[in-house]
Amino acid sequence: MDENAKPVLVIGGGIAGITSALEAAEAGCHVVLMEKSAFLGGRVARMYQYFPKLCPPTCGLEINYRRIKNNPRITVLTLAQLESLTGTPGDYEATIKISPRFIRNSCTLCSACVDACPSERPDEFNYGIGKTKAVYLDYAMAFPAMYAIERSACKEGCRACADACIYDAVDLTQKEEKKTVQVSAVIAATGWAPYDAARIQNLGFGSFKNVITNVVMERLAAPEGPTAGRILRPSDGKEPRSIAFVQCAGSRDENHLPYCSAVCCAASFKHANYVRAQYPDADIAIFYIDRRVPGRLEDFLQKLGEDEKTRFNKGKIAKVEEDPATGSLKVTAEDAIRGDRTEQTFDLVVLATGIVPQTDGLPPGFEPDEFRFINNRMEKPGLYAAGCVRRPGEVSAALADATGAALKAFQCAVRSARHG
Ligand SMILES: Cc1cc2nc3c(=O)[nH]c(=O)nc-3n(C[C@H](O)[C@H](O)[C@H](O)COP(=O)(O)OP(=O)(O)OC[C@H]3O[C@@H](n4cnc5c(N)ncnc54)[C@H](O)[C@@H]3O)c2cc1C
Repeated sequence: MDENAKPVLVIGGGIAGITSALEAAEAGCHVVLMEKSAFLGGRVARMYQYFPKLCPPTCGLEINYRRIKNNPRITVLTLAQLESLTGTPGDYEATIKISPRFIRNSCTLCSACVDACPSERPDEFNYGIGKTKAVYLDYAMAFPAMYAIERSACKEGCRACADACIYDAVDLTQKEEKKTVQVSAVIAATGWAPYDAARIQNLGFGSFKNVITNVVMERLAAPEGPTAGRILRPSDGKEPRSIAFVQCAGSRDENHLPYCSAVCCAASFKHANYVRAQYPDADIAIFYIDRRVPGRLEDFLQKLGEDEKTRFNKGKIAKVEEDPATGSLKVTAEDAIRGDRTEQTFDLVVLATGIVPQTDGLPPGFEPDEFRFINNRMEKPGLYAAGCVRRPGEVSAALADATGAALKAFQCAVRSARHG
């Protein structure tokens, strides 16, 4: 790669953005990888295990973090948001706003600041379950390996963290910065957010504590999560003896998300594995419209089919009702195979909510389709989308996508060097 080639800008530091950045950089390109939150990793970092191998996502992420650390061509900007993008393919100017972290590189993660901090903030990483101190680290392997401080959560005039830090790593005077970079191409890898389950009124999310979503299930099962890895009922902390998984919660529904999110069936089958590992005798019921598990993920379905205490019910859910005395949930559903209705009671209901693309903060030129995903348009070289902002899918699809986007961006960088 010519030294005059302009860097590639990657927006979003989830698995897709990390992959695009690494693939482009390892091929010789300079890369600016910007992430709006304080740490890289995106949604994958919040999972307990990920299919197909069911290994903890931190294994794969850690290898990638090491590759980033060892690659001087990658500049990582966290707490960073794109303010503007002007120019043409091969010759863009990006202005990036960087919010203060209030922590310097000398941080050793000794945790003295956390111990001293008297203030709390909602634990966004755990989807709002529980709290962290105002000085926080999302997860043990987080990258960059240094705390961040949410100043809006601090008490007026408090300096407890700074006073406790013997490495002089706390700097409460840091200010917002602006950075302008000339880049050859932009990859949008801004990912997804879970569909807001409170909008699906008949399923009781938000009204009944024991109705949770699939992303919360990941955090309940994670050893670092709010229940130290125990799947417990939110209402009373009891072990659930019967669990219902409700597929297509809002998905493939004209009133909510008209499309299939591609991964929710496999995710629920994975969650049934989590449940079975903790509760060998629990009753599991899976309410579905269709069971969609492409390729090797079919193995999950097959394995679950052999589980004597797992039942499948084809049919839509009419309603979920709570018994306020016990917190138990009555699920009324159609049984499309028998052609009638069923009523069953469960300790916990898990909604398989779908994937909503995150396009906020993307510059003009990245045009959303009718479902708000960003399609790549080859007549518009220089701007590429990768991962779940392009289409819903599993990590391996995001990796393939991100590698393709890196190649297209690399070609722009090469051309930018040739044409000055
Ligand atoms: C319940 C559930 C379980 C799943 N389990 C599995 C599994 O076991 N195996 C598997 O292969 N897949 C699984 N998936 C799918 C997997 O989560 C996705 O494939 C993966 O997260 C896609 O990564 P991404 O980088 O595209 O998006 P994300 O993980 O969402 O990352 C996007 C990143 O971009 C950042 N960002 C967003 N907007 C901006 C902006 N404007 N500026 C800067 N940064 C921004 C975000 O903060 C985030 O860090 C599951 C999905 C669900 C719903």
